Amino acid sequence: MSQRYYIVGNWKMNGMRAALSEARAIDRAAQRLPKVEVAIAPPVTLIAAMRESSTGIGVGAQNCHHAEKGAHTGDLSAPMLREAGADFVIVGHSERRADHHETNEQVKAKAEAAQAVDMGVILCVGESEAERDSGEAEEVVARQLAASLPETAQRLSVAYEPIWAIGTGRVPQVSDVAAMHKRLRAVLTDKYAEEGADVRILYGGSVKGENAEELLAVAEVGGALVGGASLTADGFVPIIAAA
Ligand code: PGA
Repeated sequence: MSQRYYIVGNWKMNGMRAALSEARAIDRAAQRLPKVEVAIAPPVTLIAAMRESSTGIGVGAQNCHHAEKGAHTGDLSAPMLREAGADFVIVGHSERRADHHETNEQVKAKAEAAQAVDMGVILCVGESEAERDSGEAEEVVARQLAASLPETAQRLSVAYEPIWAIGTGRVPQVSDVAAMHKRLRAVLTDKYAEEGADVRILYGGSVKGENAEELLAVAEVGGALVGGASLTADGFVPIIAAA
């Protein structure tokens, strides 16, 4: 697999227009580092403006509805997000699975809705701390992934994000990351045969400039999904440079 590393910032519910200057600085750095594919998923309110002011990075959404249109007050469909300038969407983030009770079936439908309008998909999976402590993490996450995968691997990436590592400053042992990514690769090749070998599996959860190099060096880690550290150029550029 000779794909570029994929380094994606998930801004979550952070970022007013003033933050576009950070995106522009990240964009300039990304253009100097063409061996890395860089993207940001800002809040929806910034997608169009970020798309206009940045040319070297991908711009995406953090969620979409699975339907194309209809009576779903407050929701946004994949075609709408695409028209607004998003070229990928994150689906199944643990915060959405928790806060909005999203199921594996819904995550799969969202991924397929995004693929239907040729958007990239970053599908998130990960275990809780209790599941990690009980030794079931690999089983749980493999099952979660298998149940959430869309029917084709078109423009698909997966992000392994242990819930207990998100925003906590804690990261798993490198050996645990390696074992999980190997397991998830097997799930992908089971589902998609050879095409499953080309799906990038990102690691996410407290990725910082200081630990990025070590995490990205792990076998089967094809990039990173970065929350807090992606909000500023000072935080994000060192991670891009480490890739
Ligand atoms: P974090 O978030 O980098 O702030 O831990 C990662 C994520 O939730 O995608």
